Amino acid sequence: MAAKKSLFSGGWTTEQDQNLRIKSPAKINLFLHVTAKRSDGYHDLLSLMCCISLYDNITLSPSSCQGIEICCMHASVPENHTNLAYRAAALFFRELGCDPAFPESGEKNGLRIKIEKNIPVAAGLGGGSSNAAAVLSALNSVYDHPFSMATLSNMGLSLGADVPFFLFGKPAIAAGIGEKLTDYAKLRHFTLMLVCPEFSVSTAAVYKKLNLRLTKCEKKLKKFLFGEPVFDVRQHLCNDLELVTTVLHPEILQIKQKLMDLNANGALMSGSGPAVFGVFTESDKARFAYDVLAENDNWRVFIAETLF
Ligand code: ATP
Repeated sequence: MAAKKSLFSGGWTTEQDQNLRIKSPAKINLFLHVTAKRSDGYHDLLSLMCCISLYDNITLSPSSCQGIEICCMHASVPENHTNLAYRAAALFFRELGCDPAFPESGEKNGLRIKIEKNIPVAAGLGGGSSNAAAVLSALNSVYDHPFSMATLSNMGLSLGADVPFFLFGKPAIAAGIGEKLTDYAKLRHFTLMLVCPEFSVSTAAVYKKLNLRLTKCEKKLKKFLFGEPVFDVRQHLCNDLELVTTVLHPEILQIKQKLMDLNANGALMSGSGPAVFGVFTESDKARFAYDVLAENDNWRVFIAETLF
């Protein structure tokens, strides 16, 4: 099969064996301000989101099984119809009105999705949503763009609030439940040091415990939102969910402090956590912090760059 246009950030390639390889990046929230609880149970938010160079690798290939098959060697990721990559592919084919299959693949008429997980799961880095967006975007390219970006984004939103952002693929300010995206071209490049403790966090549980009267981001973001919208690490890094998750897991505060002691310009929990990122304007300082924090056996550590 011939490779068509590259859509998804990180791009994708095909090989003669008809495997289609896609890179599925993680995200961080440089700020996450929860503005209101809605009557449907969701929360409205304002968030500056950015993809980073920590990727899951996804391979789509023809399969001799009927339908969609998921292969993921990770204890916390389901290999059935609840996997977000599976749900994305199933939705794509349902909307297209055809059976799940890899095009032009002869008698092998199923679709196999292999996910090599590098992004920590349930860590606030959006791995599942990214996988869903990667599959939607790749299938849309392979099938010659049957769906517009707006339609694809609506399909993505039905899978998860962060999926439209990953389809958007550039730094953006997300509003609504995450689906109203505005390009944020002013973001400068940062090197990030990510620290992920062993435990995972349920996003739904964190939102359930959130008390909007106690949140702090509104004040911190006043200048950004109502004055000059230039993101400044020292002033604007904030996350309204941090208070909830750190009460449950004080270790997050300890990680933030360690990153600051190692000369980060700022440190913050991403999404509902527990992943914490330190922002460095000088990559050698990030490298030094990596070497120090990698010594801790209870934490997974990564160096990554902001993606544009
Ligand atoms: P969210 O805030 O959307 O919950 P997150 O980044 O904190 O995102 P994910 O890594 O997306 O967390 O995982 C959330 C849940 O989704 C996990 O319980 C996981 O088992 C499930 N899940 C389903 N499909 C996937 C997938 N393809 N990759 C990762 N997790 C998946």
